[in-house]
Amino acid sequence: MADGHGLSSLTSESLALLLELGDVLELGILHLDDQLVVRSCNRWLAAVIAPESPELNGRPLVDLFPEMRGGAAEDAIRRALAGSTTVWAHRFHRYFLPLPAPAGHDSFSRMQQSARILPVMGGGVVVGAVVIVQDVTERVAREEALNAALLQAEVASQAKSEFLASMSHELRTPLSAIVGYMDLIEGDMVGAVPPLQRTFLGRVKTAARHLISVIEEILTFSRVEAGKEPIATETVDAMAIVREVEEMFMPQALRKGIALEISVPGEPVTLRTDATKLRQILINLIGNALKFTDEGHVSLEMSVTGDDACFVIRDTGPGIDDADLGRIFEPFTQVDQSLRRTKGGTGLGLPVSRRLAHLLGGDLRVESAPGAGSTFTLVVARNLEPVPVSATSSVLPTSRTPNLTA
Ligand code: ADP
Repeated sequence: MADGHGLSSLTSESLALLLELGDVLELGILHLDDQLVVRSCNRWLAAVIAPESPELNGRPLVDLFPEMRGGAAEDAIRRALAGSTTVWAHRFHRYFLPLPAPAGHDSFSRMQQSARILPVMGGGVVVGAVVIVQDVTERVAREEALNAALLQAEVASQAKSEFLASMSHELRTPLSAIVGYMDLIEGDMVGAVPPLQRTFLGRVKTAARHLISVIEEILTFSRVEAGKEPIATETVDAMAIVREVEEMFMPQALRKGIALEISVPGEPVTLRTDATKLRQILINLIGNALKFTDEGHVSLEMSVTGDDACFVIRDTGPGIDDADLGRIFEPFTQVDQSLRRTKGGTGLGLPVSRRLAHLLGGDLRVESAPGAGSTFTLVVARNLEPVPVSATSSVLPTSRTPNLTA
């Protein structure tokens, strides 16, 4: 039965117009009778099918294209003769008519096409079909090139992450050994250490520890980027984590004369999450707040809403302007080059923190303005579904301290 999309009648004028339009728009127009014999064909298509002798009228379609016999394309034409219209999408079938690929597209064996096959009515019955074919080879070639480039970029990014990870790992191991041996010397294990040497030893150790923390950050970043950061969920008391972080930073806050204010709900908050990652994000955020704030206060406020736990970290530091707010979550970005020299850092803390927040089923956002301080809001799921660790996660090393006494 006709479904209303067919051509209700095809007069010789409308057919001529259709054929002409096809030539202008570079579409193939093929008009078949109910025996699948070619009744007419526009010049564009005739030139593609048979450039030497473009006279096709009166020839059965399956003689012109034997490989169409019994295939999906012939079937679509027969369905048109039964009254239905078919939209032939390139996504599902690469071509309708087995035509040669256009010049310059040798990687394709056939011209890639989309098509529409319509019944033609005459006197209330279906008397034939019209096929409209569009050459989409150029578009498909562009899409394939784009996909290949995307794949290549992904492979390159993966290789970069793995290189970063293995290099950082190679650096971390000897650095940890340096710190370990410094500890032994400092502990008078190889004889008494004079005071000046002890001071210098302390400085070497501080520098080495700083390098280790930078390397740890690069390692975490590359593992997260490569999608290989394992998640270990456990049931934890959120307040205990907040208190731990508070204790860790209190000496620094006191030294700088900055008030560190903590506010938590009256009831215990139990979370099912990866506690190490949550701790790491809070350490990054409070560490930054204290690092960039020279007077005033830094606060951490924890609350619970629905399925989420929320941690808001506010500071009275210099703030960040609009242009920089968009960049600080990009790797290796440090807003103020002069601050960078005095404050140190890798520019990886925030990108890592945001990616970890996503892994914890939440997000990390910032609001800030120059002179008005900064507010970082971390949201994590209260009940994180355990995620199976990828079988390849061992490719990128996780933290490990060498055994120095062995
Ligand atoms: P790092 O602190 O190692 O430089 P981050 O990724 O943690 O790297 O931060 C990126 C940049 O964002 C910082 O260098 C700083 O310019 C800016 N920034 C982060 N936190 C704050 C803050 N609380 N106040 C002002 N600027 C900040």
